[in-house]
Amino acid sequence: MYRNEEDLQSEDWPGLIDTHCHLDLEPLYSRLAEVVSGAHLAGVTQFVVPGVHPDGWERMAAIAARHADIFPAFGIHPMHAATAVNGNLSQLAVHASSGVAIGEIGLDPAYAVSLERQESAFREQLRLALELGLPVLVHCRQAFQRTLRILQEEHAEQVGGIMHAFSGSCEMAREFIRLGFAISISGMVTRETAVRPLRIVRELPLEHLVLETDAPDMTPQRYRGQSNQPGYMVETLHAVARLKGVEPLVVAQSSHAASRKILGRMKVS
Ligand SMILES: [Zn+2]
Repeated sequence: MYRNEEDLQSEDWPGLIDTHCHLDLEPLYSRLAEVVSGAHLAGVTQFVVPGVHPDGWERMAAIAARHADIFPAFGIHPMHAATAVNGNLSQLAVHASSGVAIGEIGLDPAYAVSLERQESAFREQLRLALELGLPVLVHCRQAFQRTLRILQEEHAEQVGGIMHAFSGSCEMAREFIRLGFAISISGMVTRETAVRPLRIVRELPLEHLVLETDAPDMTPQRYRGQSNQPGYMVETLHAVARLKGVEPLVVAQSSHAASRKILGRMKVS
């Protein structure tokens, strides 16, 4: 795993926040202690774990109770939008207040669930986020205009949030930033063929960019073929630094500040 001793020993190193990693899922969950200590060695010290399905919420709450640096965000992923029914939504309301955000929620036409069903699950969860004053973690692919319109109609600017693993255009990214959202950069930027994500990093100000792994998915180029883990986020940090022409420490600091600004509840050591 990549380690930059000089950066890590610097007093200015803020401790990186992986704003999106599924530590409750395999193959990460059964070797969680090892995954977390590996991440610490790489300078990644805090982890936001987004919800996917109601069946996962108990486990997320349990690992967050055991690890002070793991922060859950409860929610229903658009692929499981059909489970966003009354009983589960009231369960979500119970769990949600102990999380740092509501997520991951949004729209993705690649899944079998109809976009209408996805949209109603998205709106229900946005309303809960506003009620609780929590930011949202948004999963969106190929439905950016519709997602933007829903966020505007539901007044998501009151809570803000993070556009997870953003794959849209710079123009769309600016619209989400205007609504108080940060744009999350994944390991895609370590691949030279990822045209849009590379352009996002080049053109948008660092103050609006946060980092994530989406582990166990979206493995950076260097480790392709393996499953992803939070420690590998350093690859993404270095790719962003190269694209911006700045020192990695600068990106570490800016992404840390941008994450903290959105996820205000996180108790950073
Ligand atoms: Zn995810």
